[in-house]
Amino acid sequence: MSELVFKPASELAQLIAKKEVSSLEVTTAFFDRSEKLNEKTFSYLHLDRDKALAAAKQADAELAAGNVSSPLHGVPIAMKDVLTTKDAPSTAGSKILQGWIPPYDSTVVRKIREAAMPILGKTNMDEFAMGSSTEFSAYGPSKNPWDLTRIPGGSGGGSSSAVAGFLAPLATGSDTGGSIRYPAAVTGSVGAKPTYGAVSRYGVIALASSLDQIGPVSNTVLDSALLQDVIAGYDPMDSTSIPTSLGSMAEAVRRADFKGLKVGVVKQLSSDGFQAGIKELFDDTIAKLVAQGVEVVEVDCPSFEYAIAAYYLILPAEASSNLARYDSVRFGMRVEPEGNPTIERVMAATREAGFGPEVKRRIILGTYALSSGYYDAYYGSAQKVRTLIQQDLDKAFSQVDVLLTPTAPTTAFKLGEKLDDPLAMYLNDIATIPANLAGIPGMSVPNGLAKEDGLPSGVQSLAPAMQDAQMYRVGALIEQLYVAQWGAPLIAQAPNLEVANG
Ligand code: GLN
Repeated sequence: MSELVFKPASELAQLIAKKEVSSLEVTTAFFDRSEKLNEKTFSYLHLDRDKALAAAKQADAELAAGNVSSPLHGVPIAMKDVLTTKDAPSTAGSKILQGWIPPYDSTVVRKIREAAMPILGKTNMDEFAMGSSTEFSAYGPSKNPWDLTRIPGGSGGGSSSAVAGFLAPLATGSDTGGSIRYPAAVTGSVGAKPTYGAVSRYGVIALASSLDQIGPVSNTVLDSALLQDVIAGYDPMDSTSIPTSLGSMAEAVRRADFKGLKVGVVKQLSSDGFQAGIKELFDDTIAKLVAQGVEVVEVDCPSFEYAIAAYYLILPAEASSNLARYDSVRFGMRVEPEGNPTIERVMAATREAGFGPEVKRRIILGTYALSSGYYDAYYGSAQKVRTLIQQDLDKAFSQVDVLLTPTAPTTAFKLGEKLDDPLAMYLNDIATIPANLAGIPGMSVPNGLAKEDGLPSGVQSLAPAMQDAQMYRVGALIEQLYVAQWGAPLIAQAPNLEVANG
């Protein structure tokens, strides 16, 4: 097995730029490993060796001609299947889109191609990004490389397991309520949700449009920063795209220092409901920062108590509307019902067969919350909570630069453990959802292995809207402190997947 797969993307990029190794060699190494180990982790729904190697050869040819397209030129990447790709199936983990090849590339995919980054394949996910474990994928669950009997988080568990299992040096994710940060936390990798509107949603298969955001997954903070720099930027094709530049995240990582840093610990997200080992590691992170002279204060965000309830009304409401397009007429699956095939009956039969249980649950919930008699009581109230959460955050950020919380309440749970209990599944998002409701950036960085089970834990850094650089700065500082302790990023302690059994 080539040692290349264990190197961070930033190092691979340098080796490729110096022509010490070719993009073809790197891409081949990840392909060889992915073809061998994907049956263990089920990170990928779709792998396409020929197309990836052709893109790698093209990247090498451009380099030979003296053209460097990006700081990640030649480094391969895995794409969450929520992003449309014109040369590969894009299913969003749903049967209703099985085999659908979109007629166009999403903006993120276009930018990746323009950056000369070969696309290895499409990663598994909970159906339409609804879930925290990938168990709601219509194609079966992905597995956590640290323990193949456990979930790799969701909805982006295909991307997190690909990166944590070294089946890809980088991946994209989509984060509507935590689907980048939560999978990163439970697989010991890094994941960032940029400010809402920082990365284009054009060509992203929509879940809840006011919450969805695309972002990077990687094994180091610098790698995520480099990838965010590639995919971010104004896009006229997305009406919510931010017209100004947020600056270079890679620069923010390289320049990170402790000087004058003030950090807030959210009272509502630092004690109750967190596994003891996670709480202990979080306290350790805070102690490490204090030892560096960082000022830490407790901040009060009383409305966070209602965040999950508000999110699980707003998300289904928007999802029920977004998913109305899967009507068996324009694209995707079509099921002919027995008897008279009226358009309503064809639609009903298709949606009955094509959607899984979680998607149906949320469509019903969302349609109910939006119905005329209940709109004010549910959707209207949830929107008010959203404003209150924004106000809590505004107040907190008037005192501190960033907020820190544990990313996930527990380490990775066992496959099947929460499958029949939707509320238990929803509670995993307790610390990640406020960022989506407020549109602010958040990232998860590994901060150790929990004492109970030896599984990864993550710490979340939240910054004010548009201040993604501040979030990366703190992520990088925390990473530095731990790398000093462990001698390498946490991921270096992951078990050898080639011998691991699940
Ligand atoms: N677990 C959350 C949900 O099921 C996260 C979704 C997401 O971020 N895509 O809605």
